[in-house]
Amino acid sequence: MPPEVNAITDLTKAERERILAKSALFDPPDAALADGRRDLVGMDREELGAELAAIGEKPFRVKQLWHWIYHQGVTDFSRMSSIARPLQEKLAERFVIGRPDPVVVQTSTDETRKFLFRFRDGQEAETVYIPDPVEDRGAVCISSQVGCTLSCRFCHTGTQTLVRNLGAPEIVGQFMAARDSYGEWPSPKGETPRLLSTIVLMGMGEPLYNYTNVSKAMRIVMDGEGIGLSRRRITLSTSGVVPMMDRAGAELGVNLAVSLHAVTNELRDVLVPLNRKYPIEELIAACRRYPGSSNARRITFEYVMLKGVNDSAAEARELVRLIAGLPAKVNLIPFNPWPGSQYETSTPAAVAKFSRIVSDAGISAPVRTPRGRDISAACGQLKTDSKRERTAISVPV
Ligand code: SAH
Ligand code: SF4
Repeated sequence: MPPEVNAITDLTKAERERILAKSALFDPPDAALADGRRDLVGMDREELGAELAAIGEKPFRVKQLWHWIYHQGVTDFSRMSSIARPLQEKLAERFVIGRPDPVVVQTSTDETRKFLFRFRDGQEAETVYIPDPVEDRGAVCISSQVGCTLSCRFCHTGTQTLVRNLGAPEIVGQFMAARDSYGEWPSPKGETPRLLSTIVLMGMGEPLYNYTNVSKAMRIVMDGEGIGLSRRRITLSTSGVVPMMDRAGAELGVNLAVSLHAVTNELRDVLVPLNRKYPIEELIAACRRYPGSSNARRITFEYVMLKGVNDSAAEARELVRLIAGLPAKVNLIPFNPWPGSQYETSTPAAVAKFSRIVSDAGISAPVRTPRGRDISAACGQLKTDSKRERTAISVPV
C-alpha cells in the first residue's frame, strides 16, 4: 500500500477516536433510576439477556420482553399476558419501561405535532411528527443531542451550545412516546400502512457526533420483531462529519442526507463552520463512497434557500456540476426564520428558478413546503432552554 494511503487511514482512525472521546464528555445519564430500577428501553438484546440472567431468568425471555416492549408498546409489566404474575412482579421491582416525559405537546394548523420531551435528568429536547398531507403516513423528526457543538449560522439549534448527547433510550424513547400520542400500537407489521412510517434524524444536534448512541437506537428501531422500520425508512442528516459518514454507511446503511447549503468553500466555511475541517471536495468524495446509494436510494442534499446569499442561478449550475454522477436529489428548504436570525427566505421566484436549473439537469429538486412554522417546529427552528450545568468544556470542532 502506498504510504499516502496509510497516512490517510491512520489519520482517519485517529480522527474517529478523537470524535468518540469527545462524545464521551457529554454522556447521557445511566440506565439506573434514583430508586435503583433500570430502564429496559434502549438496551440491545445482549444487554437485556444479561439483565435477565442476573435475576436467574432464561434467554427465551428476551424475545418475550422484546415483543411486549417494542411490538406491543406496553409500559406496564402487568399487561404482559404471556408472562406469569410472579415474574411480572419480579420484573416490576427491578425494571421500568421508560418514556421521556412530554411536557409540552403542540399541534400546528397543518397537523404537524411538536413534543418537548423532558428526560430523567431534567434536560429537554424536541421531536416533531410531520404527517403526510394526503396519505396515512408521516415522518418522525428525532433529536440526537441537547443543543449542538456546531453553530451553523442559519440554525436556531446552533445557538444552543451542546448540553449533552442523548442516550439510546432517549432516542428510541422519542419515537415510542410520539407513537403513544397517536395510539399506534402494536407496531404495524411489514408493509401495513402506519402513521409513523419513517424516521428522519434531523432534529436537534449532529447525529454523527453522537454516533454510538444513535446507531444503537437505530438498530433497536430496525429490529424486525419490534418497531421494525427498515433502514430504507430511516434518513440520517449530517452537516458533513466525513469520517463518521464512512462508518455509518458501513455499519448502519440508512439513507443519507447531507446539509450542503453552499457550493463554494468560501461561503460554506461561513454558513456551516464544520466545512473548515471537512471541505466540500472531501464531503462529496465521502458521498461518492457511501455504500448502497443507487437511483432507488439517492443521497439527499439539503440546501437552505437564503435570500441573496446562496440562491443565484450560477450557484444552481455549480451545484449540478458538483454532484454530477451521484445518485442524488436536492431538497430546497426555504429558510425558516427564528427570533434573532440574520437571514431572509429567498423569494419564491428565486427558489423556483434554482429548482428549475437543477431539475433541468436531471436531478430532482423539490421545494420543501415549510411545516409547523406556527409552532416553531420547522427545520432549524428547534431549541430548548436546557443549559449545561457544569462549566462548559470548550472543545474545538
Ligand atoms: N445536524 C444535522 C441534522 C439536523 S438539522 C444537520 O445539520 O444536517 C436538519 C436540517 O435543517 C439541516 O439540513 C439543516 O441545515 C436545516 N436547517 C437548519 N436551520 C434551518 C433553517 N433556519 N431553515 C431551514 N432549514 C434549516
Ligand atoms: Fe447543528 Fe445541524 Fe443546526 Fe448545524 S444545522 S447547528 S449541525 S443542528
